[in-house]
Amino acid sequence: MTLFDKGMKMKLDCGDEASVVRLIRNDRHCDVYEVILNDEIRILKYYSDLSFSDTSAFYDFIAAKLKDGPPSERFYWPGALTEKTNEGFGYVTGCVPKSYHDLDEFLLLKADFSSYAKRLNAAIEIVRAFECLHEKGYFFQSADSNVFLVDGNTGDVVIDDCEYITSVCAGARGSIKFEAPEVIAGKCKSDMHSDLFLLSELLFVILFSAHPFEGRRLDCHAYITRDAKQEFYAKSPIFAFDPNDESNRPVSGVSGYEIQLWKKIPKAIKEKFYQAFSRSSLGYGDLEEIRKNRVACEAWRHELVNLRSRLVKCPACGEDLFLDFDSQTICPNSKCGHVIGKNRILAFGNGEYRVPIFPGVGIYKCMVDSLSDDCETQIGSITVNPQNPNILGIKNESSKPWLAVSKKTIESGRSLSFSAFDEVYFDQCEQKGFAKIID
Ligand SMILES: [Zn+2]
Repeated sequence: MTLFDKGMKMKLDCGDEASVVRLIRNDRHCDVYEVILNDEIRILKYYSDLSFSDTSAFYDFIAAKLKDGPPSERFYWPGALTEKTNEGFGYVTGCVPKSYHDLDEFLLLKADFSSYAKRLNAAIEIVRAFECLHEKGYFFQSADSNVFLVDGNTGDVVIDDCEYITSVCAGARGSIKFEAPEVIAGKCKSDMHSDLFLLSELLFVILFSAHPFEGRRLDCHAYITRDAKQEFYAKSPIFAFDPNDESNRPVSGVSGYEIQLWKKIPKAIKEKFYQAFSRSSLGYGDLEEIRKNRVACEAWRHELVNLRSRLVKCPACGEDLFLDFDSQTICPNSKCGHVIGKNRILAFGNGEYRVPIFPGVGIYKCMVDSLSDDCETQIGSITVNPQNPNILGIKNESSKPWLAVSKKTIESGRSLSFSAFDEVYFDQCEQKGFAKIID
């Protein structure tokens, strides 16, 4: 191990110098330092004990990633390399702000979200991060929850330790709690399919502050042996809410928060988890069958964005609630019980995105343009007529006009009452979007 003293200057390939502040920790393969680079606090990871691999090959691997650039700004990607010497080499990366907590802390209930909207924001952000990663041909070659950090007050997500991201799996192993069963069983190496399993597990952690395979089976053990871990997480995992097998249900009193969150969430999301953690997806079948049952990033994005559209405040008490698409909605606050009549729905394109016609609900770019996956840019909303609160309208908040089939144009910045049209055409990009009202 090479140790650097405070104030030592490290020459970087970008021409700048990083000044060592302190050693933060010794990781398995590297020493992690706090450094100052261009007046900003950054992290330097220095590899001086590469017995696990060939130093040159690892240097080339990091240099190639640096050149390629990060999949999105959420990834704390290698920023600049130090000189490669006989003693080793290092690279500079971002310093995760203190407001972020890794998902282990959310699992242990040491961290939580300030609201359900922030929880949902984190879920959508993590799906978008995986989509950006896969678009560049990368995946996680070893999986663990502490690489993913979330700010519970904003729902923002960052991904640290990006050296575990690759496009060719060397066979590195992560935590048994988050590794795909087919990888643990040796049926294949990590790839984008195993990443989809990891994504489903992370989404479960974010949405329910719990691990999907931790239920009654685990609670029966005072001490979990290595063999028991293998059994519960890898060889024969059982989803805690498996619709056909109640043997691993969460124990009330131990997992009350998880049970409460599961009760609240609409059926459409539950069904996605039933698929993601079905016996076919959990490694009981052959590889083809396992992969066929994985939930794709895009399917998660559609469902989570729809869930976000359904999350509103109760008009009577302000409690968060999910609007029911099929019937009236009753406020879950037992002291309130306000009833919201069944809402009409605005269905976009082939119905992937469905928005309840309810005041304040947003319309996002991905909904009106099938080529766009931008679920953050709001381009419209459901509005209330200021003269009559019973009349709802659609407001165009984009810079381009929309066409309602009543042949009335909704000028940019203007609203049109829902009674005046049945369908609306959006003119946003090359691919023109379309939405219709359904009851
Ligand atoms: Zn209420």
